[in-house]
Amino acid sequence: MGEKYFPLDRAALEKIARQYPTPFYIYDEKAIIENVRRIKVAFSIFPSYMNHFAVKALPNPYILKLLAAEGFGADCSSYPELLLAEMAGMNGEKIMFTSNETPASEYIAACRMGAVINLDDFSHIEFLEKTAGLTQLISLRYNPGPLKEGNAIIGKPEEAKYGFTREQIINGYSLLREKGVKRFALHTMVASNELSVPYHIETARMLFELASEVNKKTGIRFEFINLGGGMGIPYRLDEIAIDYRVLADGIQKAYNEILIPAGLAPVNIHTEWGRVVTGPYGWLVTCAIHKKEIYRNYIALDACMADLMRPALYGAYHHITIPGKETASLTEIYDIVGSLCENNDKFAVQRSLPKIDVASENMTASRETEDFTADFVVIHDAGAHGRAMGFNYNGKLRCGELLLRKDGSVAQIRRPETTDDYFATLDITGLPNFN
Ligand SMILES: *Cc1c(COP(=O)(O)O)cnc(C)c1O
Repeated sequence: MGEKYFPLDRAALEKIARQYPTPFYIYDEKAIIENVRRIKVAFSIFPSYMNHFAVKALPNPYILKLLAAEGFGADCSSYPELLLAEMAGMNGEKIMFTSNETPASEYIAACRMGAVINLDDFSHIEFLEKTAGLTQLISLRYNPGPLKEGNAIIGKPEEAKYGFTREQIINGYSLLREKGVKRFALHTMVASNELSVPYHIETARMLFELASEVNKKTGIRFEFINLGGGMGIPYRLDEIAIDYRVLADGIQKAYNEILIPAGLAPVNIHTEWGRVVTGPYGWLVTCAIHKKEIYRNYIALDACMADLMRPALYGAYHHITIPGKETASLTEIYDIVGSLCENNDKFAVQRSLPKIDVASENMTASRETEDFTADFVVIHDAGAHGRAMGFNYNGKLRCGELLLRKDGSVAQIRRPETTDDYFATLDITGLPNFN
């Protein structure tokens, strides 16, 4: 059984919560950077390696800036994500624009920034040519269809809306070359949160074989092959993290067996991992505000699925710990819930936990007197696809984000939402006269 890491004890958490009331996300700068360095070391066996961090996983420019300083680029799929990457100092070919069903305006913006355009469909070759114009370097996204098994989150490739078929991709490269494109890349993204190393090695092998086939049929060579995202993280205690070295070694073996004999080496290896980069190093820190005992026992938090919707959306497991009660025995069975008017607003269902205390008086008062009688409830592995997926349904305001700096200080890198934010898209000046 693994253990779940959390960098703060209860006393440290109280100190932070006095300045930044719960709920909040907190990310661990040191742990993220150490993780990035482990990835870079493992993949340094390739002629060149680049991870384009999937901005959608944690779209905060402060985090992106840390990653940029480590040499990572960005994987963007919308105009605001391009702007975030730019804010963090990522530019040009450090940015991979992997969009789908893309509007012309976004291709134009991505091309203006010099991003690598990763086309999702054969028809987009002409669409790009007519709108933004074809760029020097173009990547195509492959959908292997029935040739590759999918997984739970992303589904079967043949039912997925993304990418070119095998026949289309070969024709696509030929067409691009006829149109004067000089530099080429190949991409796929077939899984999400997949913990199997052989699965990811198999994906690389599939792409390397495709690259050789395209080369044989069209003569083109690839500047880089992008293995996509989808690396899993161990959300559950009995799951095992991916060993980057074993993964990189397996990919290198396929590289040596396929790309070198085909005369295609050197080829740069790129990835666009999000979850595995920041996921385990972010937590949603909440406070238990109510206890309810009906047919089941419920603990209600000051956060809800608007802050973290993976459990509601996919039935995803997120480990929960209670600071100060790390070694307490798991005597209770609770549903850990939020305040949204949807019964799937549950962070955990029938979870064994230590006895959780809620505030005796009302929480605001107890916070003002700095008297924390209630337990903090920490939701783990929320550093990717966490706050970013949130929404405002039911008038819920999303919480802010903190960064635990390397020196132990805490910086607010996004404030919590306010009602002004909620109303920002409404112009109510016309309301009195509106009939
Ligand atoms: C979501 C996504 C990623 C990142 O996925 P992770 O599971 O966070 O690694 C990468 N590429 C594309 C195209 C995506 O849609």
